[in-house]
Amino acid sequence: MCGIVGYIGSKQAYPIIINGLKRLEYRGYDSAGICVVSETPFTAKCKGKVSDLENFIGDHSVAGTIGIGHTRWATHGEPNDTNAHPHESMNGTFILIHNGIIENYGILKSKLEKRGYIFKSETDTEVLVNLIEYIYLKGNVTPEIAVRLALTKVVGAYGIAVICRDEVDTLIAARKGSPLVVGVGDGEYYVASDATPIVEFTNSVIFLNDNDVAILKRNEMVLKTIYNEALEPNIQTLDLDIEAIEKGGFDHFMLKEIFEQPRSIHDTFRGRVSTNPFDIHLGGLYKVIPNLVDAKRIILIGCGTSWHAALVGEYLLEDLARIPVEVEYASEFRYRHPIIYKDDVVIAISQSGETADTLAAIRMAKQAGAMVLGICNVVGSSIPRETHAGVYTHAGPEIGVASTKAFTAQVTVLIMMAILLGRKKGEINDDRYNELINELANVPDKIEKILQADPLILEISKRFKDATNFLYLGRGYYFPVALEGALKLKEISYIHAEGYPAAEMKHGPIALIDDTMPVVVIATKDNSYEKIVSNIQEVKARKGVIIAIVTEGDTVIKQMADYVIEIPEAGEVVGALLSVVPLQMLSYHIALLRGCNVDQPRNLAKSVTVE
Ligand code: GLU
Repeated sequence: MCGIVGYIGSKQAYPIIINGLKRLEYRGYDSAGICVVSETPFTAKCKGKVSDLENFIGDHSVAGTIGIGHTRWATHGEPNDTNAHPHESMNGTFILIHNGIIENYGILKSKLEKRGYIFKSETDTEVLVNLIEYIYLKGNVTPEIAVRLALTKVVGAYGIAVICRDEVDTLIAARKGSPLVVGVGDGEYYVASDATPIVEFTNSVIFLNDNDVAILKRNEMVLKTIYNEALEPNIQTLDLDIEAIEKGGFDHFMLKEIFEQPRSIHDTFRGRVSTNPFDIHLGGLYKVIPNLVDAKRIILIGCGTSWHAALVGEYLLEDLARIPVEVEYASEFRYRHPIIYKDDVVIAISQSGETADTLAAIRMAKQAGAMVLGICNVVGSSIPRETHAGVYTHAGPEIGVASTKAFTAQVTVLIMMAILLGRKKGEINDDRYNELINELANVPDKIEKILQADPLILEISKRFKDATNFLYLGRGYYFPVALEGALKLKEISYIHAEGYPAAEMKHGPIALIDDTMPVVVIATKDNSYEKIVSNIQEVKARKGVIIAIVTEGDTVIKQMADYVIEIPEAGEVVGALLSVVPLQMLSYHIALLRGCNVDQPRNLAKSVTVE
């Protein structure tokens, strides 16, 4: 959450920061602000988006080759001009942007108030910048020392970038809990919450670790811990191209990412799945396969859409590999004193690899002695760095706040894992193995076909754009898909929606059904087809309106349902990958028809780095 950009070098900082903020805007868009320094700092900030900030600055010329910028996802204090970042210390000595939460800000604030500090905003961030200034002025130390000392007093999470007015040739960046990447250019450095604002300039990057501080001058970088221990920079080369983070002719990132899924799923299994000879190979798990095969239990943890992928994972791993699986919300798992055995394998699923609760949960599981693996999309992010092993999803950058291709990539990884483990455990014979691999290999072409239903889904969306409630039903592998479909609709169209296991409907939600209630049913020809047909009848008997996702050529449900969307025939194991796509498209169109901002839904932000 929240986007941070910083620059020091010989180029003009303003356009770099503004463009960088636009690239990071999916992380937060409550307010935006910048500070660019030539001789004196120029600061501008306002409520709203980066474009509002640009309008606010207007024709004012903003010169300077060092600067910082921020898009906020508010935690402390409402989104308004005053609470927007950057925050300046009371005497104007330091200017700071911050991602995260200073948990002990209350105590620090009252201590500073007793020493005469007056606060303008309601943010925790202003407490930090004033603490830095207080230490700097009182202790007569360098800006770097003041920043480091202040950070030793802080409880909570931060990614920060700071400029001191007395040393305007230095940019200081530090992280704990919130991600921060330093881009290394020629006589210049970039700082950002993730690499997207940096890749157009350099692909040499350093991922800061917790407690790291980078002291950046134009021709020099010093990396140390907040405790003044020297560190050797680990410069990595990123494989991320600029087209991947642009809209590429689509109106929205979300639409682009939905339509990218044939390719992104292919990228997820490329080099890992072969049909000649039939084989699955997951290099990232190579060393830990024995642990997985012998695991008494697998615990899958995640938040939001990743938690839905985990639920699909439970069905897959139990079905194919016969390993007991539990699925946990990371935020519950970490606080509920769970029982974790040494022969448990905990698998954390997170698109960004930075989800704060998931990160905290894996640390706890590691401490309990379990093997911890990650399934993440962002290469080099915190979870892959802190887990024993893992698999990258390789879906490419996901910018739309509502996750689409990251979900299908996560499920693809789980399918590969389940087939691989089922095979290693002797649960899957040759024929089944080959059949499953074929099923997976055929998914991209089948999704390509589903995407052609876009005009039909648009028409259906027109009919339901004003609905106030939606129910999504599915059984087996399709129950998590129902949850994911409902979540997509809620996230971007603000229509209340619930996902339910179809058979559970009669234990409560059936009371909601009348002729105004659209019910989306995933009713493909799989194991529970007959049962789902009965569930549809139950809805129809109460005048509910059915939108059914059916297998191509289905004639039975066509007669009962009000609307049908066909998807190609496929085995259940890959069913979630196919059936979720029309639901993503449905929520996209409904949201757009309601005039919602699809890529930046209210109150949400991507990469949830606060707890
Ligand atoms: N806690 C800070 C605030 O509310 C930073 C939030 C963010 O990460 O954007 O301003």
